[in-house]
Amino acid sequence: MSAELSSKITVSRSPRTRRLAGIRERVRRSVINIMYRVGLVRFVERVASRFELRRSTGSRLPSVRRRITPKFAILCYHRVGTDGVPLFSHLKPNEFESQMRYLRKHYRVASLDQLCRELQEARLVEPTVAVTFDDGYRDLYTQAFPALQKYRIPATIYLIGRCMETGEPPWYDRIFVAVKNAPGNTLEVQLDRLRRFELGPAEVRLQIAWQIVCYLRTISDPSRRAWCAKFEQVLPVQPAELAERMLTWEQVREMQKGGVLFGAHTMSHPAVSQLDPSDFDEELLRSRRLLEERLGVPVTDFAYPFGKHSDTNSVAEEFLVRAGYRSAVTTVEGYNQPTTNPFRLRRIQIDDSVSMASFALTLGRLFLESPDPLKSTDGMDDLSMQVQQRRCEV
Ligand SMILES: [Zn+2]
Repeated sequence: MSAELSSKITVSRSPRTRRLAGIRERVRRSVINIMYRVGLVRFVERVASRFELRRSTGSRLPSVRRRITPKFAILCYHRVGTDGVPLFSHLKPNEFESQMRYLRKHYRVASLDQLCRELQEARLVEPTVAVTFDDGYRDLYTQAFPALQKYRIPATIYLIGRCMETGEPPWYDRIFVAVKNAPGNTLEVQLDRLRRFELGPAEVRLQIAWQIVCYLRTISDPSRRAWCAKFEQVLPVQPAELAERMLTWEQVREMQKGGVLFGAHTMSHPAVSQLDPSDFDEELLRSRRLLEERLGVPVTDFAYPFGKHSDTNSVAEEFLVRAGYRSAVTTVEGYNQPTTNPFRLRRIQIDDSVSMASFALTLGRLFLESPDPLKSTDGMDDLSMQVQQRRCEV
């Protein structure tokens, strides 16, 4: 938190800055679309299947070398569909289906199970992609499952135990809905100190809610719970706003029969780094046992809520290992290879506004890069930063 930050946070940029950013973004998208149409993206993919770029200090240009290790990408989705709780609700089902078709046509697609096995085997295979979803929203059954079946994509869905049991969305969705519906022009909330937000259109409110959630990821989980309870007294949420948003066990079992795998995503979606180790049994172990009881199969894969470096820690990682988990995924960007810690697997978040050309180029570039090229910023450390995108890791 920067000391000189004004007490009045302005989440929207000036009109001129927004206009320039809009122009830059349009140019960027146009270039990517042209690259896609003339076949340059496919060329990148074909090169990446055999070669990789290596960047060395002191040289501006990367060198090209033959790829000698397998690379595995894990895609991270949250929701598919265009309604409901505001986050991740703009990926149209037909766009998602196009992405699955593209994966099936141009990549080697593996289940998380196969990916974990092959990471251990370390033999050289084609660039491989696995598909995962976090949180267990209902549209995964109504919107995503048909496409997964159609293109035989063996996806993994990470479920939040208490949301499955109660049918209620996780705590952060209550904040998104409360801020979306907040009356008046301003909202004052006590975060690291008293913050005064200027409410505006839906997009601005979404950014404000995201800033609040980011702050709540930095305080102890009991403090976060107390904050949420107090906040809800001030801005209560109508139950109808959050009804029928999560998967039911019946839907989960039907997807399980259709080849979907399931992993644990805690009981209540805390930032694991903010848990007291005495809570690990409940959040990290009970969530797994609940899934095993309900699904009748071993559950050995875990997804860290929010998933950035600052949301994880080595104490929790050691607990997951001792508890018998096989893997844990983060939202730190990058691909995985045999040297990657299986309890810190990286993923690529798929933005809900991404075009087919951007989707294809993201994957092609990812596989073309040499090991560990990608940044792994947390993107949430300072409330003073602009909330630059809607790509929230929840
Ligand atoms: Zn989550």
